[in-house]
Amino acid sequence: MPEHDEAEDQHAHQFNRSGRQQHAQHGRGAQQHQRHSGNWFWTTIAAPVALLDRAIVRLLPAVPKPVVQRLSSRYIAGPALDDAIRVVRKLNAKGKMATIDVLGEDVTNPDEAHAIAGQYHDVLARVGDERLDSNISVKLTGLGLELDYGLCRENLEAVVGDAAARGSFVRIDMEDSSTTDRTLQLYRELHADGLDNLGVVLQAYLRRTLSDLPGLDNVRLCKGIYVEPPELAFREYEAVRVNYVRCLEVLVRQGSYVGIATHDEHLIREGLRIVRAAGLDREQYEFQMLLGVRPDRADELVADGHRVRVYVPYGSHWYEYSVRRLQENPKMAGYIASDIFGRVLGR
Ligand code: FAD
Repeated sequence: MPEHDEAEDQHAHQFNRSGRQQHAQHGRGAQQHQRHSGNWFWTTIAAPVALLDRAIVRLLPAVPKPVVQRLSSRYIAGPALDDAIRVVRKLNAKGKMATIDVLGEDVTNPDEAHAIAGQYHDVLARVGDERLDSNISVKLTGLGLELDYGLCRENLEAVVGDAAARGSFVRIDMEDSSTTDRTLQLYRELHADGLDNLGVVLQAYLRRTLSDLPGLDNVRLCKGIYVEPPELAFREYEAVRVNYVRCLEVLVRQGSYVGIATHDEHLIREGLRIVRAAGLDREQYEFQMLLGVRPDRADELVADGHRVRVYVPYGSHWYEYSVRRLQENPKMAGYIASDIFGRVLGR
């Protein structure tokens, strides 16, 4: 698995659950456009190029699957559990912890949901047998949330119970805003039943997030990836950052364990500032990053004595996750263009 480092600019593409891109009017590019609109270079060269970039990235779902697979290989461990285990072993050797995600969301029948739960049991067993430093991340729609709340709860409870028996931990990923209430409710219900090896994810782009914080004792804080309407979510790049910092400060103040999940250098520095100011020791927080994104920055954090956890997805349902990651990569338009034009030119 290649581990690349990127210090690239943000395009602020966001996606709905099926991986389609929304119009990214709110990214740093859009702000630069406004800021530089009187500038000759910007209006005649840079803006049209940025538009072309966005158009190319928007076309990603039309790119042949083998190309998507090739371009996204750094973000995904592979199709099989063995692939994930191999990647986690390498991460652990570099002092990084992991969280394994079985790819698969929006299942259409209970058998699929049971099958995904079964794969998580296999993950927990392998991680335990090999004494790896990894927990798991689950998506509730993969465990049947859209089919039946009770079914989802049953699957989640079984996975969390298994994890508890093995001394492991389960992070519930957060999906689009139609699932937020039910996700928090399930988290709270299981917690109230005594299952405390369980944490949830909150998204800084949602306006409601600040009011969701009280009572949550273990939170991964991320910006959020799904398409949300402006009445529910901040759209501007800076507004999301401001809310991220505000939420992080509250979480730390209320004594929650936080997973600071971001590759945004500004937020990494703010995270460092906040945990330092609060006098937290290294066991009371962690940084989190996605496999294949800024691995060198993760190495630096580890070298500086911080704990870093890498999100390791694997499985046969790689396509939607790949499209999301590729559309978030600021260099993707260039990669796609060179791949496509390279073929046209017979390279
Ligand atoms: P950005 O501004 O998007 O990125 C900052 C910089 O990171 C970019 O300028 C670029 O240099 C680099 N970068 C970012 N993405 C890429 C990429 N794909 N390829 C190359 N470089 C890149 N979202 C949810 O909605 N629910 C979840 O449960 C969830 N779980 C997550 C778990 C983890 C561990 C992480 C790290 C993210 C998770 N996300 C989740 C995604 C998150 O919401 C953001 O969409 C994603 O992290 C990008 O935001 P950012 O904070 O890294 O900032």
